[in-house]
Amino acid sequence: MSEYLLEARNLKKHFMLDNDTVSRLAGKTRTLKAVDGIDFAVRRGETLGLVGESGCGKSTTARLITRLVEPSAGEVLFKGENLLEFKRAKMQQTRKSIQLVFQDPYSSLNPRKTIMQILSRPLEVHKLAANWVEKRRRVLELLNLVGLGEEHADRYPHEFSGGQRQRIAIARALAVDPELIIGDEPVSALDVSIQAQVLNLFRELQEKLSLTYIFIAHDLSVIRHISDRVAVMYVGKIVETGNVADIFDKPQHPYTKALLDAVPDADPMVEPPKLTLKGEVATPIDPPPGCRLCNRCPIATDHCSQVMPELVETSKDHFVACHNL
Ligand code: ADP
Repeated sequence: MSEYLLEARNLKKHFMLDNDTVSRLAGKTRTLKAVDGIDFAVRRGETLGLVGESGCGKSTTARLITRLVEPSAGEVLFKGENLLEFKRAKMQQTRKSIQLVFQDPYSSLNPRKTIMQILSRPLEVHKLAANWVEKRRRVLELLNLVGLGEEHADRYPHEFSGGQRQRIAIARALAVDPELIIGDEPVSALDVSIQAQVLNLFRELQEKLSLTYIFIAHDLSVIRHISDRVAVMYVGKIVETGNVADIFDKPQHPYTKALLDAVPDADPMVEPPKLTLKGEVATPIDPPPGCRLCNRCPIATDHCSQVMPELVETSKDHFVACHNL
């Protein structure tokens, strides 16, 4: 059995833009390279944090893994099998094992259904409860798992706080006994104090249920708190990946360094962030060859603008895509 539950290999999603104003004026189809050949692997029972600024391709990556969006190229191995080749029935079965939890629990919970109805639905769809009594027992068990109780079962989503609604969304993901949960910014809509509680819940559940996580966030403190390993994305590429301590204490890629430097210190008296990158984030639309960071990078050479660097292992389990290290 492979130590990896999920592996992405040279995964790509290119959106063809042919009907927007710029493309029409230019009279040609432009290509938006949202995810442009990424490789990563997630070991059973660990949390891979996927971090990067808005628009770098994190959500698209989550959607590619679950085939909510069909990849343009590459492979997604789940337990060693390429799920991009699965036929409908097998994919449906696999979707049970890979659940998504989204940022906004309010829009993902039907306001006209009670929590009982919301949590019963996946049990019905996947025929996981033989009768009403079993269904109710399972729903109460799920509520308990996420720190809610029987008294919540017959209420509606609007009667809950943001943190509680996210607990309900997590319970719904757990209903089908998944092995992998992909959290797409699952705490970023919550107050900071509530964020910590929900992150702790994710950790407790991971221990209790032997879950594997891919956790997407733009907030570095969230990533640091929850991850075992981290992959840093920039404009459709993974630029650095390694253990959480290596990424935070010994970052090597200029982009990772800048990202960490830009985190404001909790103490306002300390010196302001050292923003080492100047200029704008490169566009993912018809990007030039070479490293996506080269227009902003303090150590870039001509070579960087011509040749895309590959991820290279610089120390054990620590991979960096940079020509100049
Ligand atoms: P992130 O989650 O890191 O904020 P996304 O994966 O949502 O980034 O988006 C990556 C890039 O892909 C962005 O430039 C976004 O505008 C673009 N994009 C996402 N979905 C589509 C789509 N359906 N059609 C065209 N472009 C898209």
